[in-house]
Amino acid sequence: MKQDRRKVSNCRYTIGVDFGGTFVKLALVRFWEKGFRIEGFSSFETKNYNKDALIEQMVIRIIKLKAESTYKGNRVRGVGIGVPGRVDFDKGIVFDLTNVSGWKNVNLKDALQPKVKIPVLVDNDANLMALAESKFGAAKGHKDCICVTMGTGIGGGIILNHKVYRGISFAAGEIGHMTINENGPLCICGGKGCVERYIGNRYILEEAIRRLRGGAKSSVRAKLNGRYSNLTLEMLNSAARKKDPFSILIWQEVGKHMGAVLANVVNLLNPEIIVVGGGVAKAGALFLEPMRRIVKERAFQVSCRNLKIVASKFSNKAGIIGAAALVLANKEKK
Ligand SMILES: [Zn+2]
Repeated sequence: MKQDRRKVSNCRYTIGVDFGGTFVKLALVRFWEKGFRIEGFSSFETKNYNKDALIEQMVIRIIKLKAESTYKGNRVRGVGIGVPGRVDFDKGIVFDLTNVSGWKNVNLKDALQPKVKIPVLVDNDANLMALAESKFGAAKGHKDCICVTMGTGIGGGIILNHKVYRGISFAAGEIGHMTINENGPLCICGGKGCVERYIGNRYILEEAIRRLRGGAKSSVRAKLNGRYSNLTLEMLNSAARKKDPFSILIWQEVGKHMGAVLANVVNLLNPEIIVVGGGVAKAGALFLEPMRRIVKERAFQVSCRNLKIVASKFSNKAGIIGAAALVLANKEKK
C-alpha cells in the first residue's frame, strides 16, 4: 500500500491516441518512474467518420478522458497521437495517410489543441511503437533500437540514444521500402522490388494463392474448398505449426526477405536490438529463426556479436502506449 501511494504522488497522466486504418483508440495513461497503467479507454471505427467528424469525435473523447483524470485529482500533461503516415512532427501536420482517405496536409495539432486545451503532439505510428518498446517493452534499457512492424505495410521506427530519429523530412525508418530486387514488381510508393511488395500481408497471401492455383500441395487446400481468396495468414500460420511443408516454406521465405533487409539495417546503424512486431509477427519462430540466420550470414560479424532480435512486447498496444509516452519524452528533450 505504501509503495502504491508513493507511485501515485510521483505519477504523471497523459492521453495516447492510436489513429489506425480501422479504429481510433484513446487511452488515459498513468506513468510513474518505471512503469505505466492504462486507466481509461475508448475507441471508435474510423470508417464511420469523414475528416471533420473524426476530429470532432477525437475532441469529445479526449475531453472526457481528461475529465476522468481531473475527477481523480490529476492534471493531464498532454495528448500524443500516432497516425499511419508521414507527419511534420514540429508543426503537427499530417501529410498523408496510407489507409484513410481525405487526409492530405491536415494540421491535426492546430485542429485539436485549442479545443482540448492541453498540448497536442502528432507523430508517425511506427515511431511511437518504437518509443513504447524502447521505454517500457522489449528494448527497455537499450540506448539504440530499431523497431519493425510487419502488417499490411512494413513500418520502421528508429531510436538513437533513447530518442526517436525522424530525419530532416520526417521520413526516416521506411524499412518497408528498401529495395531487395531492383527489377522487382512495382510498389505502392512508386519504387520497384521493395521488401513490402514481397512480405506485406497482402503479398504473402497473393504468392501463396498463386502457388496453390499452380497445383502446389498443402493441407490448407482442403479448408479452402476452391475458394482461394478465403486464405488467411492465420491458416498459413496454423498449417505451418502442424508441419505443412508448403506453409513452412512461405514463412521461411518471409524470414529470408526480412533478414536480408535487416542485415542492411544492421550494417548501416549497428544497433543493439531489433524489435519485430505487427500482425505478421504472430507467426513468431516460423520466420524469426530464418530471419536471424540470414542477418548473421549477411551482416558484419562484429555487428552481430551483441545484436538481439526479439519479438515485440506490446504487440497491438504499442501504438497507444507510445503515443501517451511521447508527451513525456518530448518534455525530457527540452
Ligand atoms: Zn515501396
